[in-house]
Amino acid sequence: MTQEVNLTEKLKHYFGFDKFKGDQEAIIRNLLDGHDIFVLMPTGGGKSLCYQLPSLIMEGTAIVVSPLIALMKNQVDVINGISEEDGVAHYLNSSLKKAEIDQVRADIVSGRTKLLYVAPESLNKEENMEFLKSVKISFYAIDEAHCIAEWGHDFRPEYRKIRCAIESIGTDPVIALTATATDKVRTDIVRSLGIEDCAEFKSSFNRPNLYYEVRPKKSDDYTNKQIIKFINQHAGKSGIIYCLSRKKVEELAAILKANDIKAAPYHAGLDSETRSKAQDDFLMEELDIIVATIAFGMGIDKPDVRFVIHYDIPKSLEGYYQETGRAGRDGEEGICIVFYSKNDLKKLENFMDGKPVAEQDIGRQLLQETETYAESSVCRRKLLLHYFGEDYPKDN
Ligand code: ADP
Ligand code: MG
Repeated sequence: MTQEVNLTEKLKHYFGFDKFKGDQEAIIRNLLDGHDIFVLMPTGGGKSLCYQLPSLIMEGTAIVVSPLIALMKNQVDVINGISEEDGVAHYLNSSLKKAEIDQVRADIVSGRTKLLYVAPESLNKEENMEFLKSVKISFYAIDEAHCIAEWGHDFRPEYRKIRCAIESIGTDPVIALTATATDKVRTDIVRSLGIEDCAEFKSSFNRPNLYYEVRPKKSDDYTNKQIIKFINQHAGKSGIIYCLSRKKVEELAAILKANDIKAAPYHAGLDSETRSKAQDDFLMEELDIIVATIAFGMGIDKPDVRFVIHYDIPKSLEGYYQETGRAGRDGEEGICIVFYSKNDLKKLENFMDGKPVAEQDIGRQLLQETETYAESSVCRRKLLLHYFGEDYPKDN
């Protein structure tokens, strides 16, 4: 039946895009056909559209579970910005006042609201479930679905109650989306959501234009020199250098500046004005290099970052993949170098003493994987893809 819907036309009409990216169209057709779906797609792949577009076409309101309030607000603004009517998208979370909640409910009841973003704890609230029971739901989208996995780094206990809430509100198709799921996490997600028979869509995590290298970290001095040399060899190109500590960020940025490199530090300890100036200057190419903690990068969309250097070994391969993923977004070359010493790994392990045991176990396991990556002689692309459950057939 959905064959009749010209989805490309709808895409153009609502979002102004000419064609779908990757599996988007197939995913949307499956959803329109009433299937449960699991989507694994890298960050920036276009997951949101997979539920936004069908919600606008289907009857009723789609419920989107999302973990971050800031993210929700942003997405709601985007949808309302492209819609002719107000209230097409709303969010429901603990930040809303009574009058605002009443407005959201009124818009849902009138059929105007096609997308309702909810924090998991709001979905699980008795009064919200009671209300949602009384209205027509088109489907449920569970964004950042890896938050369900107990042993993952983003675990949200409330995510495990989603199935229960869905059963109480009324079952309709479920689409789970994430950028970060190993096989174990995937199994956990489909089980917890009760969608074991779902259609699955996995995009490749391979980034053919990225080049991965591990260099030994003989000493800080040696590393600084290598970095300066590298930057000078790539003069005028944009790059990000990640360090684990704020102190190191400050130190390295100062050293680079002393060497006439246009660099600035970025970490959560700087005031917001300094941070947004660094970010803007980097985007406007007043700065070539940002030296940062992992606080930098969320939502940064600079297409021509040519290299990402890790001064210290990262805490997990997943994090490493996300951070290096900021290089070469335009499809052109991106060089990813990590400086590795056994000593750094030891330090990271020692940091975990005193943390809850379960957390230590997870942390050690993640570190172990990073160690394997750093110490191996196998092609690093192969190892990274293997981590995401993908086979990379080529030798090197
Ligand atoms: P993800 O959630 O997978 O990280 P997003 O849903 O935030 O990705 O989308 C990333 C970017 O891709 C957004 O700027 C979005 O507007 C854009 N995008 C999504 N689908 C398309 C498309 N079919 N054509 C062009 N741009 C798209
Ligand atoms: Mg997303």
